Amino acid sequence: MISLSAYIPEMLETRRQFHHHPEIAWTEFLTTQTIVKRVRELGFKTVVGKALFDVEHTFGRDEEKIQAAMQESLKLGMDPVLLKELEGFTGCLAIWETGRPGPVTALRFDIDCVNVEEDHTDANEAHRGGFDSECCGLMHACGHDAHAAMGLAVAHWVKDNAAELCGTIKIIFQPAEEGTKGAGGIAYSNNLDDVDYILGGHIGVSAHLHEVGIIRAGFMNTTKMNVTFKGSPAHAGSNAEKGRNALMAACNAAMQMMGIARHGSGNSNVNIGTIHAGEGRNVVPVNARMEFEVRGETQEINRYMQETAERMIRGAAESYGVEYKIDIVGMAVDIHSDADLSDMVAEVAKSVPTVQKVFDIDKCSGSEDFSLLAQKVQSHGGKSAFFFYGCNHHGHHRADFEIQDAESLPEGLEICVKMVERLNGKK
Ligand SMILES: [Zn+2]
Repeated sequence: MISLSAYIPEMLETRRQFHHHPEIAWTEFLTTQTIVKRVRELGFKTVVGKALFDVEHTFGRDEEKIQAAMQESLKLGMDPVLLKELEGFTGCLAIWETGRPGPVTALRFDIDCVNVEEDHTDANEAHRGGFDSECCGLMHACGHDAHAAMGLAVAHWVKDNAAELCGTIKIIFQPAEEGTKGAGGIAYSNNLDDVDYILGGHIGVSAHLHEVGIIRAGFMNTTKMNVTFKGSPAHAGSNAEKGRNALMAACNAAMQMMGIARHGSGNSNVNIGTIHAGEGRNVVPVNARMEFEVRGETQEINRYMQETAERMIRGAAESYGVEYKIDIVGMAVDIHSDADLSDMVAEVAKSVPTVQKVFDIDKCSGSEDFSLLAQKVQSHGGKSAFFFYGCNHHGHHRADFEIQDAESLPEGLEICVKMVERLNGKK
C-alpha cells in the first residue's frame, strides 16, 4: 500500500487553489471543473448535471446569478463542452465500481463558499500563504475548500488501492451546502438508492486541532424561506390612504416572528436576516422582500416555528392589505447517526497517531444538510455517521477563519480512507 503521506502535497495544493477562487452556492462551476476532470482522469464514472438531482428538491437557485456565473466561468477557463454537460448544475458524483461484490459506501464532501470578505492582512493564515480569496466578498470561511480537496485525495487513494477493495465507492461532491440548499436534490434523486453506508465530515466546528468529534445526534432541523410582499403605490403626502404598504407588512411580520412563543419541548430559533423594501422617500412602499430562517431541535418544533411564522406573515399581509408569497429556499433535518458505524469512526480516529482526543457529541447547534442524505440512506436500512476533524479557528464564517491545513487535513483523510478500507476492504 502506498503511504498516505504521498497524497498530502496534492491535497494541500488543491485546497489552496480552491481557497484562492471561492464560489458561492450553485455557481461552483470552476470548482466542479477541477473535480470532474480529476476524477475522470483517475477512472471514475461520473454523474453530473440534472442527473445528480431531483431538480424539484433543489433549493435557493437564483437562475439569473447562475447564468452570469456560467458566462464568467467561460472567461476564466471553463471548458465549454463540460459547461454544457453540467446543464447549469454544479457538483459531481464520482463512482468507483470494483467489480467485486460488496457494500456501496458513499462519502460526502461539500464544495461551496460563504459571503464573507476575507481578511487580507498578515493576521490571516491564507494571506500569509499567498492563497487568500481573489473574489470580492466571497471566502471559503467554512472549510469546504478543504472538504472538496479531501474528496479528491480519497478518490486518488481509491484508484491506487482498487485491487484491495470490493463493492462500490461513491464520492459525492455536493454544491450549495451553505443555506442548506444543495443536499435535498441529491437526497430525493435515485443516486443514493443503493447506498449501504454514508459518511460525512466537517473540519473544525467544536473540534480543536488533533481532536475528532463523533456526532451521535444533533444539528437543528431548519427551514429557510424568502417572502415577498406586494402592495400598491400612492403619494405619501397627499393620498397615502390609497396605498398599500408592503414595507410595514414586512416589518410588522418581522417584529412578531422574533417574538414567537418558545416551544416547551426543546430548542428553537428564528432569524430575520434581511429586509429590503421601498422605492423612494415619498412613495408608499410597494415591494418588500424578507429572508428568514427557523430552526428546531426536533422536526415537530421546527414545524411549529415554520407554521407560526407563516401565520404571522399571513396576518401582517392581511392587516396591511398587501399580497405575499413564501418560497422555501433551504432545509435540513436533525442527525441521528447509527451507533455501530459511529463506533467504527471513533475506533479508526483513535488509531490515527496524531489524534489526541476523540469525543462524542450528542447535541449540536447549527444545521447541516448532510442530514437529508443520511435520512435518505437510513430510510432504506443503510447506515450513517458524521464526524468533525479539528482545527484551531476563531469561528466559522469569519474573515479570519483558518484551518492549519497541513496538520488538520491529513487526519481527516486518514479517517476517510481507513473507513473505506474497513467497509470495502477485499474479504
Ligand atoms: Zn460548513
